[in-house]
Amino acid sequence: MSKFFSSKYDALTPYTPGEQPRDSQYIKLNTNESPYETSLKAVEYASKEALKLRLYSDPEVTDLVAKGADYFGVAKDEILFTNGSDEALNFALMAFCDNKTEAIFPDITYGFYPVICSLNNIKYTEKPLKEDLTIDLNDYMNTGKTVFLANPNAPTGIALTLNDVEKIIEGNPNNVVIVDEAYVDFGAESAVKLIHKYDNLLVVQTMSKSRSLAGGRLGFAIGCKELIQDLNTLKYSTNPYNVNRMTMAAGIGALEDDAYMKENCQKIIEVREYTAAELSALGFKMTDSKANFIFAKHDKISGEQLYMELKKRNILVRYFNKPRLTEYVRITIGTKEQMDALITQVKEILK
Ligand code: PMP
Repeated sequence: MSKFFSSKYDALTPYTPGEQPRDSQYIKLNTNESPYETSLKAVEYASKEALKLRLYSDPEVTDLVAKGADYFGVAKDEILFTNGSDEALNFALMAFCDNKTEAIFPDITYGFYPVICSLNNIKYTEKPLKEDLTIDLNDYMNTGKTVFLANPNAPTGIALTLNDVEKIIEGNPNNVVIVDEAYVDFGAESAVKLIHKYDNLLVVQTMSKSRSLAGGRLGFAIGCKELIQDLNTLKYSTNPYNVNRMTMAAGIGALEDDAYMKENCQKIIEVREYTAAELSALGFKMTDSKANFIFAKHDKISGEQLYMELKKRNILVRYFNKPRLTEYVRITIGTKEQMDALITQVKEILK
């Protein structure tokens, strides 16, 4: 740290991203990327746009906003695209939290929420999940706080029904409820269809997972036009050209190639169920994941040990050095071949 770094960041612990090795020796099951290539249409549109990188990108993201609005059945002023959904989450926190309105989320959830709270100097409450790692709805009634709810949750993969999500939105009429649907395409129900019913609902999604665009950095938020306007105010105050030309073009291609996305999600769901059955036969216990990962533990080996043993065998998974999570590993669903390789190695390790 330099002597110039502001003391306002004294309490800030930055987010630790999963390992991103630069060689391809690993089977990479640690950061919930898609094992399937980006849509060729997205790649083609992005490559054409590369010829125009001399020019700034469109700050209004006009063509992608039109495409996204049409795709999700919302108006153009009800959707905003961002540099990954992390940016949308940060904008939402900046917009809807302050020293009177704090944030609230589960103790076990996406690790970025506490980071953006401390970055923006926002106090937050972490509500413990129940013993079975599900949410207690009663914890989220009349909170008087801005609610961050990942659905499905990370790293458990457990999803709330839309009915329960709606209860939380209804239970906080004077606060914004941000439903982070990064993994929704793998088996949960989206709250997008509720945005015309509730002025306090903001849905955040990403193209990183189901649309194989993690490296493109493209997320979006959908909500009533007033909420979206607030996020736009912050976007224009921090990074007006937040979606670069190639990424915008890739996003359009990815939305047009919807059948490809759905086919990939279906394969991931099937491989997830297959892997879960195999691991369970080996004595693993796991949550009922509706995401593109499995959250599993075994009473013979800790999360960290399994992570290390798999890494020695060129397979990367993720473990969490956090109370209640140390027994688990989070395993991203890859191709069937990758999961078979994982299962073979896990058998060896358990021997
Ligand atoms: N929300 C959740 C729950 C996540 O796990 C992630 C991925 N790390 C994100 C949001 C952010 O994804 P991205 O910025 O790539 O859109």
